[in-house]
Amino acid sequence: MAELNAVADLAVEGNVAVLTLNSPPVNALSAPVRDAIMAGLAAAAADAAVQALVLICAGRTFIAGADITEFGRPPQGASLHEVMLAIEGLGKPVVAAIHGTALGGGLETALACHWRVAVPSAKLGLPEVKLGLLPGAGGTQRLPRLVGVPQALEMVTSGAMIGAQQAAAAGLLDELAPEDDLRAFALLFARRVLDEARPLRRVRDLPVTAEPGVFDAFRKANARKFRGFDAPEFNIRCIEAAATKNFDEGLAIEHALFMELMNGTQSKAQRHLFFAERAAQKIPGLPPGTQPRPIRKVGVIGAGTMGGGISMNFLSAGFPVTIVETNEAALHRGTGVMRTNYENTAKKGRITQEAVERNMGLLTPSLSLEDLADCDLVIEAVFENMAIKKEIFAKLDGIVKPGAILASNTSYLNVDEIAASTQRPQDVCGMHFFSPANVMRLLEVVRGAKTAPDVLETVLGLARKIGKVAVVAGVCHGFIGNRMLELRQREANKLILEGAMPWDVDRVITAFGMPMGPFQMADLAGLDIGWSAETSKGESLRDQLCERDRRGQKTRCGFYDYDEQRTPTPSDLVRDLVLAQSAAKGVTRRVISDEEILERCTYTMINEGALILEEGMAYRASDIDMVWLTGYGFPAYRGGPMFYADTVGLPHIVATLRKFQAMNEADFAPAPLLERLAAEGVGFNG
Ligand code: NAD
Repeated sequence: MAELNAVADLAVEGNVAVLTLNSPPVNALSAPVRDAIMAGLAAAAADAAVQALVLICAGRTFIAGADITEFGRPPQGASLHEVMLAIEGLGKPVVAAIHGTALGGGLETALACHWRVAVPSAKLGLPEVKLGLLPGAGGTQRLPRLVGVPQALEMVTSGAMIGAQQAAAAGLLDELAPEDDLRAFALLFARRVLDEARPLRRVRDLPVTAEPGVFDAFRKANARKFRGFDAPEFNIRCIEAAATKNFDEGLAIEHALFMELMNGTQSKAQRHLFFAERAAQKIPGLPPGTQPRPIRKVGVIGAGTMGGGISMNFLSAGFPVTIVETNEAALHRGTGVMRTNYENTAKKGRITQEAVERNMGLLTPSLSLEDLADCDLVIEAVFENMAIKKEIFAKLDGIVKPGAILASNTSYLNVDEIAASTQRPQDVCGMHFFSPANVMRLLEVVRGAKTAPDVLETVLGLARKIGKVAVVAGVCHGFIGNRMLELRQREANKLILEGAMPWDVDRVITAFGMPMGPFQMADLAGLDIGWSAETSKGESLRDQLCERDRRGQKTRCGFYDYDEQRTPTPSDLVRDLVLAQSAAKGVTRRVISDEEILERCTYTMINEGALILEEGMAYRASDIDMVWLTGYGFPAYRGGPMFYADTVGLPHIVATLRKFQAMNEADFAPAPLLERLAAEGVGFNG
């Protein structure tokens, strides 16, 4: 065995050389790895005794992708493209031996080999689209030659992995190896190829055909999913080129489209979010080596909209959950909704019926807080009312074992005040889930003034276990997400008073890429949250809508009218109410441009984001972006509100806010941090 460089060895075994890459953790295609492959190929070419080469990886996986830390930096060493051509061009058979995950550039490397074998547990995929890119090292040209156009389209546009069995059936793998004997199997396979004197099977030489109309049909079928994103369309065009041009022309098209994506804003935004997700896990002020507290059993208080969804997260991850309500009816209703949700998921084939029973079997419904005594974590999700929450936390203090974490799912309330109602404020934090809590990925973790470091460490780890993205926020009204959302809602309400209609605002916000506009969102949540007929003054638009029993989607009408399928149509009644509202307030309505709607709704949010940063309520701008991506469906291709601000340019945002100050000095005052960064010519993200 000879060491080629720090990350690779070459062993010659009879007439076959085995090139083993060893660059932990995932054998990413860094410059040294690329150089090692080139050196291995050169050695194999130079040694007349070597008739074939096996490419295999040490550690937990085959090459799991490009080294994305190299993106945007000056190129070093052999390019990926050169490596691919060198592999394919070696006059001796090259066999890729795959275990773990062959992803992105890793799968492209395997595609450049003449043969591919893998263990049954291996997974293969081209996830570039998730970073707003396409496989730029020949992947889009070689893949359809092996698996056909439909499967290639599916793989490059979804970025999803497929298992080895499926890959073998599709033609992506030549043979499956025994799970624990990959190296020996690959050697035997290579010898078989030699013994049978099989001609070199270069993927580039294989034919590829496409049914007429297949590309447009695919575009149409996925239009909704791809809306706003450039990368899926560019990936499709590459596969189209593979089917209609020769290999070298196809490669040239792939390269040109790759560079366009790489230099475009969308991929930068999506790469920003990739790093943002990791950055959010780094919490300032946590002493190194902080150990999480063990969590074996979870308690949830309140089986309403949130309590049920929160419980499902833990049940699905295998935690026993005790859920407490005030009365039998509410408990029955809440657990019934959970079961129905699980059953519906099972009907769609996403979980098995056994999983439904297993999950529900982990649930203990209760009417007594005393039953939470032995829980390691208790999450309160009762009405948004400080007095009730304080009373519950004071009671919990006397019931739950020492060292347990006591969390509130409050949307707005002061977590320090809640913590102060216990003798153990160090064990208290906010765990703010987003609705539907079993679906939305965000968990805002509210760090109280006294929250202990190991409580944060525990909650962050737990978030990963239940598939959430945790972002830490400080104690302030609405934390990060809802605090910014309130500003957008305020502007939306002002805009319809001044001249826009609710559907104008919603149209602009959804065209921007949000899944819903402010008024659609209000209809979905229910207009009567926090409203009561007794206290209604009939003054605001909301009062007037609720008084007419227009409470949103659940009553089939709110700002919009809804049909059976919940398709919204603008309501004439609402139009009249909006006009009357302006008249009653003495406002002369004017034509409001789409640009003004967008700027007022988004720039005031961004401005609030700057205040949040300045006050230390978020640790970094990218945390705010993560909140909006995972909690509110902010379009990934815009990178989140703060990244979007950077792409618009902070000076423009400051100037626009100043322009709007003529309408209302206070509402549009630029945050000092925003002004300072704009003046320094830098962005929120550096
Ligand atoms: P909900 O009205 O659907 O559910 C609250 C449940 O708590 C009810 O079933 C009620 O019976 C129960 N309850 C009240 N007092 C109780 C007590 N003393 N002991 C046990 N159970 C009690 O409300 P929700 O929408 O689930 O909201 C719950 C909390 O989550 C609130 O603080 C809210 O601000 C927050 N939140 C809501 C959302 C949302 O979109 N709905 C999102 C994030 C956070």
